[in-house]
Amino acid sequence: MTGTSFDAATSHHVADLGRRVLAGGNISREEAVSLFALESTADIFELLAWANRIREQFKGNKIHLCSIVNAKAGACSENCSFCAQSSFYQTGSPKYGFVDPEPVLEAADEANKNSVTAVGLVAAWKGLNEGPMLDEVCDRIRELKDSGKTRPDASLGLIKSQRVADRLKEAGLECYGHNLESSRRFFPKTCTTHTYDDRLETIGYLKKAGIKICSGGIIGMGETREDRCDLAFALREIGANVVPINILNPIPGTPFEKNPPLPVMEILKTIACFRFILPRQEIMIAGGRTVNLRDAQSMVFMAGASALMVGNYLTTLNQPVEKDLQMLKDLGLDPDWDSHGFSDQAAAAPAPQLQNA
Ligand code: SF4
Repeated sequence: MTGTSFDAATSHHVADLGRRVLAGGNISREEAVSLFALESTADIFELLAWANRIREQFKGNKIHLCSIVNAKAGACSENCSFCAQSSFYQTGSPKYGFVDPEPVLEAADEANKNSVTAVGLVAAWKGLNEGPMLDEVCDRIRELKDSGKTRPDASLGLIKSQRVADRLKEAGLECYGHNLESSRRFFPKTCTTHTYDDRLETIGYLKKAGIKICSGGIIGMGETREDRCDLAFALREIGANVVPINILNPIPGTPFEKNPPLPVMEILKTIACFRFILPRQEIMIAGGRTVNLRDAQSMVFMAGASALMVGNYLTTLNQPVEKDLQMLKDLGLDPDWDSHGFSDQAAAAPAPQLQNA
């Protein structure tokens, strides 16, 4: 990020693109790259102001809150370079088997008390096949649904058959979290035990089962701005409903432990660019928020975010949910998202095409 100089031509360019998105149009990849390339603080604030207008236009003042329960922790067979739960790295992160009903129902109670729309069951493993574990997962989803207190979501890794996705849907699952993590180009630098196409295949099964897609990625892993841009376009293409943006919190013991933190203005600019590319999606600020944004956390909404992961993350802490609720109230934002639904989003995009299919 350099200087604070204001450039009238850049200002017109950002405004032109902003007006087009507000009118229901799209921006091209080349135009998006020009936004990701903005450097001066003044230009970035201009971009944030337009991203805020776009959020207001398509989302009003509604903010979607989500929380997660770590349903199976640690000892994961995969080697994702950012992850404390991979068995490839010594991180001291907790390890335990699949969770009993009680903690899940407690999380539903807590969510209900705090206007949190959804509770996601998250498991540290490669994926889910048919068998006794799938039965147990479906039981937890059914219990969450029957509690009537929250929307049951899940993030359970790769799915290798349509039948598994259909079973999850039958159990009451509404939305499944499965990040693309980064661009197709950068993905092999984050993980080599499964592929980007494995992830697209899973998303295809979920969409076919009628499950909403929560898919985003992590920034600050060493990817370029163009990688971030291409991730956003890939998410547009697969028709993600919720787009979590995680900001790397480097975990000691993982290959990314020494990654330098992204500057705050670079993070805010990235959120704003995502809003320009994905005007109708829920853009959710997820892991790494507190540690990377510190006092600038409330600016994510001006940058275009319309959703927030609240409560603690899988292996790291977040600020207390009461503090997040106060932040929303102070900004005139409303976490009561139930009546908002996904109905404000365009018709679902077709299932993703695999490059090698
Ligand atoms: S991100 Fe998920 S799949 Fe990758 S190592 Fe961590 S728990 Fe396993």
